[in-house]
Amino acid sequence: MLVNLNEVLIKARKEGYGVPAFDCTEDVLIRTILDTAEEKKSPVILMALEHDLKGKGIDYITSLVKGVADKYDIPIVLHLDHATNFEIIEKAIDYGFTSVMYDGSMLPIEENIANTKRVVEMAHPKNVTVEAELGHVAGKEIDGSYAGETMLTEPDEVLKFVNETKVDALAVSIGTAHGVYVSAPELNIDRLIEINKISPVPLVLHGGSGTPIDQVQESIKNGISKINLYADLRIAMFKGLKVSAKSHDRVDPLPDQLYKPIRDALRETIIDKMEMVFSENKGI
Ligand SMILES: [Zn+2]
Repeated sequence: MLVNLNEVLIKARKEGYGVPAFDCTEDVLIRTILDTAEEKKSPVILMALEHDLKGKGIDYITSLVKGVADKYDIPIVLHLDHATNFEIIEKAIDYGFTSVMYDGSMLPIEENIANTKRVVEMAHPKNVTVEAELGHVAGKEIDGSYAGETMLTEPDEVLKFVNETKVDALAVSIGTAHGVYVSAPELNIDRLIEINKISPVPLVLHGGSGTPIDQVQESIKNGISKINLYADLRIAMFKGLKVSAKSHDRVDPLPDQLYKPIRDALRETIIDKMEMVFSENKGI
């Protein structure tokens, strides 16, 4: 069933587990994520980036997810990830996204607050939840370009930001980065503990892919409720694709045979992530 962020994150925060949030673009990913989540009875957040909504992307993703969500008993959130464009946010809300992230993390805080507030005013009347980012998680954009310097979240700014914007979830910068790590990150758990004490809303960890498992679990124990993952799924798909390319003798393999190694590699990674964030059996 399709729900918004509050319906999965408030419970996760209270019970001390994380909800995995996967960026996904089309059928192979969406279907494997949902089938695996149902198998493991895990709540799940499907995310799309602005990049994925281009052309008819938004039609494909929303039609597919809305068309199948009721066939699954687990809670499913359809979330717009890292949006900066108000028109796209408005369109996503109209198309049936149940949650959106406004990313003003590169802006001065007052501008971030004003813009986030504007998104909350667009979203809340339609029962759509809003995530915002305070501080900045750096790393690489999906096109490989550099995404600026890391700015750790300042605990002093958290309460003002949440109270003024009325956001439902807050992405914090505590040492992770987007994309594939060159060297393992070192999360600032002390800072997370401090932020979690202050924050009225659940906290989100971006750049979950490649972050050592013990550090992710430590962050969940200390207040992270949503873990964003993408790069590890892409790595798994590519691994599956290579297996597929080598395993067919005929020139015209059936699509299900062609995609099976990709789905298998994805399923394995998704299960690892659900075990990592303790979300198994939490979606019932
Ligand atoms: Zn992110």
